[in-house]
Amino acid sequence: MNIEILPLAVGSSNATPLGNTSMLVKLKREYFLIDTGYLAALRLREQLIKHPEVADQIKAILFTHQDNDHTADYFGVIQEISRRRSNPFKNEPIHIYANQRTVKELKARLKICNFKCSFLIYNIIKAGDFFQVADLPLMVSTLEMDHIRRRPRKLWDKLRRKRAEDALSFSFSSLDLSEKYFTVFTDGVLGCSASRHEAAAFCQGSRVILASAMHGAKEDLPTGTHATTYQYAQVANLANIPAVYFYHQEESFTPKEQLLLEAAPFYQGEMDFLEVNQPVTVWEQ
Ligand SMILES: [Zn+2]
Repeated sequence: MNIEILPLAVGSSNATPLGNTSMLVKLKREYFLIDTGYLAALRLREQLIKHPEVADQIKAILFTHQDNDHTADYFGVIQEISRRRSNPFKNEPIHIYANQRTVKELKARLKICNFKCSFLIYNIIKAGDFFQVADLPLMVSTLEMDHIRRRPRKLWDKLRRKRAEDALSFSFSSLDLSEKYFTVFTDGVLGCSASRHEAAAFCQGSRVILASAMHGAKEDLPTGTHATTYQYAQVANLANIPAVYFYHQEESFTPKEQLLLEAAPFYQGEMDFLEVNQPVTVWEQ
């Protein structure tokens, strides 16, 4: 089985042509999506016009967290899929996997648009869960990383209990767990919530990791919201991962070339940024 990822949007805000996080994952003939951030619906539409059969084969959408930049185009994406499905597939279920806060947000987004849909099945997931995605030959494990706002640490600690669920990263394995395919690290701060060793243990055995890392070393604030490229390079080195791809870049921050240079001393494997509409094979057999 080969697994290929088509990045639909890879940026960190709506103010950039990169859009924000959304990935279309293909395994055999079936597909699922990870996140539906800004521009996801438009980019998915472009794909579905070229390859209408894909709409029939999207089985699930996994959400990392509830922030706008990862959920904004949920309605557009669902509408696009439902419009372009062929008749026999009109009512085929699409499984949504997200934590409780995110599910609430997603349902509200459809309600605001007065969109009623009978084929969505919501599955609430939480940190530490281990589950099969729809009827696909995939097991997923989750790791929580606090997506910390720029609040003073003490205040954050007080609020933390209220925000028990936060950003979930995903690691994908075969059903029998004999193979670990790839890992997606979403927004969060390494060294604050999850340690580099925890992250390394989580992705251990993956062939590829995809890491949300937009900051440069100078922007690496202890109370920030995101990890840096060099931190994930350290994780990849600890876990012996062959390839790392970064996303969630911000064009107005440190340029990509500089970010790769900062990471290079920590990791000898293949390292690059995901690009919109440029497929990456994350598993080949
Ligand atoms: Zn984000």
